Amino acid sequence: MRYLITGGAGFVGSHLAEELLRRGGEVYVIDDLSTGSINNIRHLKTHDKFHYVIDTVMNRPLTAELVDAVDVVYHLAAAVGVKLIVESPVRTIETNIQATEMVLALANKKKRPTFVASTSEVYGKSEQLPFREDGELVMGATTKGRWSYACSKAIDEFLAIAYWKEKKLPTVVARLFNTVGPRQTGQYGMVVPNFARQALAGQPLTVFGDGKQSRCFSHVGDVVRALIGLMEQPAAYGNVYNVGNHQEITIFDLAKQVREVAQSKSEIVFIPYEKAYEQGFEDMPRRVPDISKIKTLIGWQPTIALPQILADVVGYYRSTP
Ligand code: UDP
Repeated sequence: MRYLITGGAGFVGSHLAEELLRRGGEVYVIDDLSTGSINNIRHLKTHDKFHYVIDTVMNRPLTAELVDAVDVVYHLAAAVGVKLIVESPVRTIETNIQATEMVLALANKKKRPTFVASTSEVYGKSEQLPFREDGELVMGATTKGRWSYACSKAIDEFLAIAYWKEKKLPTVVARLFNTVGPRQTGQYGMVVPNFARQALAGQPLTVFGDGKQSRCFSHVGDVVRALIGLMEQPAAYGNVYNVGNHQEITIFDLAKQVREVAQSKSEIVFIPYEKAYEQGFEDMPRRVPDISKIKTLIGWQPTIALPQILADVVGYYRSTP
């Protein structure tokens, strides 16, 4: 099988490429390196079934050619990271909506089954925990930049589902909950790589808010297995699936655990949200997935627990400062 991964030099995309190659697939990657990095795919360059092009998916003729060359499309190219989103809302909205429109339109011409990556951000401020795919999405005001990310991804979901319903283009959407692992950069605000680097450098670990907010972290290795499993199952077409771990931890406890794993003496400091992001920034206090839908369909569940995840990330940053 031949696969196109848009955003394939990103954190999740590069792990997906690696796993598809390991399973004998042929992988094409397009990435403009806006948030991805050539370092993420450098080790794959010598693989005879790996091909990559550094360009934007908005390059229509090029993306059309790539879609043509493959059997399945994984559309992962997107603006990600809360920090990036708050600082560059135009780029976020444009990248997330226009690129998905283009990829789905091109995939539809050739009827290539297409995976669209979404995010647990779409649940917004919902308090219906654990979050189910058919639950309410609760967004905040349009003056708060963060919600543009959630809305842009919700539009992507609507589009993917509409292409299936109206045009019978096989599409699958997964809402990725906090996904971590080697190669993820803290540059765009993600908490685990931030804490890992801070702990290893002996710098203070920066907990935003009071640290009582919680998240559930899954290992990227588990996540890519879910994405591959979903695209192998035609019953997934036209559906949305949560992909995440239900083991919950507060950000303060996370900071303490990272510090322990890194054997660091760093202090833990609390930074108000308005300093970390922007005035009026809204965070969600809890975010827990209900993963029964994907479990029922393909038997998927996470296998890597938090201590192992943190050891993996800290180990990565220790060897790649
Ligand atoms: N966070 C933090 N310190 C950091 C980066 C993030 O305390 O250096 C917090 C952030 O405010 C949020 C949680 O950690 O409550 C997870 O943040 P991340 O950006 O990784 O993902 P999110 O769940 O917000 O999409």
